[in-house]
Amino acid sequence: MIQKVKGTYDVLPSETSKWQALERTIRNVSRIYNYREIRTPMFEQTELFHRGVGEETDIVSKETYDFMDRGNRSNTLRPEGTAPVVRSFIENKLYADKNPVQKLYYMGPMFRYERPQKGRYRQFAQFGAEAFGSDSPMLDAEIIGYAVSVLKALKITDVSVNINSIGEEESKANYKEALINYLAPDISSLCSDCQTRYQKNPLRILDCKVDKDSDVLKNAPKPLDYLTEESKAHFVQVIGYLDSMGIDYKIDKNLVRGLDYYTHTVFEVNANLETLGAQNTICGGGRYNNLVSSLGGPKTPGVGFAFGLERLMFALESINFLGDPDYLHLYLMILGDDLKVEGTRILNRCRLGGLFADMDYLDKSMKAKFKQAEILNARFVAIYGEEEHQAKMINVKDQESGQEVKVPLDQLYNYIVAELMKPAHSCSSCSEDSCDSCGSDECDCDSEEGTCNCGGK
Ligand code: ATP
Ligand code: MG
Repeated sequence: MIQKVKGTYDVLPSETSKWQALERTIRNVSRIYNYREIRTPMFEQTELFHRGVGEETDIVSKETYDFMDRGNRSNTLRPEGTAPVVRSFIENKLYADKNPVQKLYYMGPMFRYERPQKGRYRQFAQFGAEAFGSDSPMLDAEIIGYAVSVLKALKITDVSVNINSIGEEESKANYKEALINYLAPDISSLCSDCQTRYQKNPLRILDCKVDKDSDVLKNAPKPLDYLTEESKAHFVQVIGYLDSMGIDYKIDKNLVRGLDYYTHTVFEVNANLETLGAQNTICGGGRYNNLVSSLGGPKTPGVGFAFGLERLMFALESINFLGDPDYLHLYLMILGDDLKVEGTRILNRCRLGGLFADMDYLDKSMKAKFKQAEILNARFVAIYGEEEHQAKMINVKDQESGQEVKVPLDQLYNYIVAELMKPAHSCSSCSEDSCDSCGSDECDCDSEEGTCNCGGK
């Protein structure tokens, strides 16, 4: 038997409704913040990621899926979304659009050759956002607010937002020098990757998963202490806007992010979930004012984030998020071969009208058919047998109330729609879900009297 590739997974139909609900919530919140979706290809020229993500990052140095195509060009399955979005932004001249601030989001699979474990896959899904065209700290705060709103909308509350600033070029250069001097005597105590980073990109040492908790790194100089006045002012304003939006955050002086392109604000959202173990970062992002120009576009500031959707899904599982229930409006049972043509016509008419409808295909016993209707969570079961055929009627059972009626064959669709539209209670004293006089959700309405059995008091 051929099995799935290591580090990949199937989303089975029993799980897709959760994914769809997650994606729908993300799209709704994106609409609220006025970010529009952009869809870029699943693979790009390898060079894009080397230039856009950085040669020294784990992503590019260890994790990409590269392949030569038949024309001998090197392509790479996208390991992240920002570089492709920036490529598209430049190639399609979105910087010249009537709207000078372009707010975009994307959602879809990414590919990284990593050691698979819980919350870490070789094909995984990200939802990310990028805002181009303004270096206002308001936009840094907005992007953080947007990320937090997605979590709020999903009712994931046990999270912490950590933020830091690494400043722009001058601050980064000052800090880099201080860090090199500080690390010089201790560099041999760090891991071999860090020794290479020391030569090529010392800032990345702070992000090392191996040495993170060593005393050398804990006591290292902090980027915040090397910010220029201008960068400091930017950071102070970002924080001010977060405060004004009532967003909880922690300043984490050690936070730098793995990618080379960040300037000013960097942030991460961690879920406080035992089950995620070390993989508890569900979102990471920050400002990148030099990425567009470094990929050949006009100098354009940007700020964005990326969520790992599988990790969001784990967080949702821990709060028993169920997604949309599977159900049918109608399940049709046709009793007899001669009636199948007419039965199919009836079912088709209901489907054309928009009912969620299915039928029994297996010609099993009535008991088995009803079991199936239950499994499919059908609200109405329609039985079409010889007797009904003769009378041009169809037998309809409401699985919720148990009520059975015969309706004219050509009225089946209208009948079901009318029943579905009925409020749960038709009593004038009762609201749909509960009596608005007594508050009970169990009161039996006396439909003849038109009052609730509480007396409507
Ligand atoms: P990590 O430190 O966990 O490796 P990262 O810094 O490589 O994360 P980013 O490149 O910032 O991650 O990607 C943003 C988010 O995508 C992460 O916070 C995480 O939730 C998710 N993510 C990254 N790599 C994977 C993966 N291999 N499998 C599942 N989710 C991932
Ligand atoms: Mg990683």
